[in-house]
Amino acid sequence: MTIQENVSLKTFNTFGIDAKANKYVNIQNLGKLKEVLKTEASKPLFVLGGGSNMLLTKDIEALVLHLNLKGIAIIEETEDYAVVNAQAGENWHEFVLWCLDNNLGGIENLSLIPGNIGTAPIQNIGAYGVELKDVFHSCEAIHILTQQTKTFTNQDCKFDYRESIFKQDLKGQYIITNVKLKLSKRNHKLNIAYGAIKSELESLKISNPTIKDVSKAVINIRQSKLPDPKEIGNSGSFFKNPVISLTEFKKLQKDFPNVPHYVVSDSEIKVPAGWLIETAGFKGKRFGDYGVHNKQALVLVNYKNALGKDIYALAQLIQQTVSRLFNIKIETEVNII
Ligand SMILES: Cc1cc2nc3c(=O)[nH]c(=O)nc-3n(C[C@H](O)[C@H](O)[C@H](O)COP(=O)(O)OP(=O)(O)OC[C@H]3O[C@@H](n4cnc5c(N)ncnc54)[C@H](O)[C@@H]3O)c2cc1C
Repeated sequence: MTIQENVSLKTFNTFGIDAKANKYVNIQNLGKLKEVLKTEASKPLFVLGGGSNMLLTKDIEALVLHLNLKGIAIIEETEDYAVVNAQAGENWHEFVLWCLDNNLGGIENLSLIPGNIGTAPIQNIGAYGVELKDVFHSCEAIHILTQQTKTFTNQDCKFDYRESIFKQDLKGQYIITNVKLKLSKRNHKLNIAYGAIKSELESLKISNPTIKDVSKAVINIRQSKLPDPKEIGNSGSFFKNPVISLTEFKKLQKDFPNVPHYVVSDSEIKVPAGWLIETAGFKGKRFGDYGVHNKQALVLVNYKNALGKDIYALAQLIQQTVSRLFNIKIETEVNII
């Protein structure tokens, strides 16, 4: 087992922040993970997947476990569905493409989300009307301190909007090592009502879409809207869309009659955080090497060599301004490290 010291994490996080890991180990199989945990579990540890949902505001004074466990296999199937098991270090989008090539449906709307499959349950990744929980079968995770393996079913994970038990009660306690999804083999239920998918399919002149067509439409829409982390450092949506009470919403609508919104329930309304940030005047604002993206106000960006702590200070300024102008609290979706 090779533990390296003072390793730059710049190429391992999509924000491209040049923070260092005090200690770093590349974990390529389960045996190695268990071996490391046996000797290091009582010391500070930090799990790194694809690095696409974190803002590093300082060096990491811990042993960074870079999870690169690989492997995809169908472990159960009928004529209608297949349960696919993928190891935590598989890249999410490559996994989606593998499923599409094998005519397995259910995650085509989640195409092009960066990061690894082992991290997907942590915030119940979602896009274009689909969330991981819709196809999630179970996952296996190792308890860091006891090294016992536990299986978590869909219900055990307590999934919610960008939430799960791994971000709440069990935060920092488990390392997810594999994820199993139940995907359709035929009669795929396409989800094309959301956002611009329908109009993108129309412009592609596709009237009877397949799961590959839906994926293509999603990829086109995402590429036109979101900055590619390979070109501009970012972590996708920096904030969650706030859910407010109907009473609060009515007050907001009085002052801002055109506020976009989605009804969550009889008493709750979701307001797009991007609209709040744009209306507060932050869209496209640049402060030296960092700022708010000019096409998508929800995305904070690192143009070159920004410091994580400066981007975090901008995030806090945005939160304070939104709170002052609209009396709404917006929470970060990105993990602040
Ligand atoms: C351009 C862009 C677009 C995005 N679009 C979306 C989107 O549409 N929808 C969406 O939901 N998200 C989106 N994201 C966010 C991100 O892709 C997801 O949250 C993804 O699941 C993060 O995976 P990761 O492996 O990169 O996680 P990391 O950033 O490596 O880790 C995130 C957190 O999970 C912990 N962790 C990592 N792996 C494990 C593990 N195996 N076990 C336990 N803890 C672990 C880490 O310690 C950290 O706290 C986007 C990000 C970018 C950059």
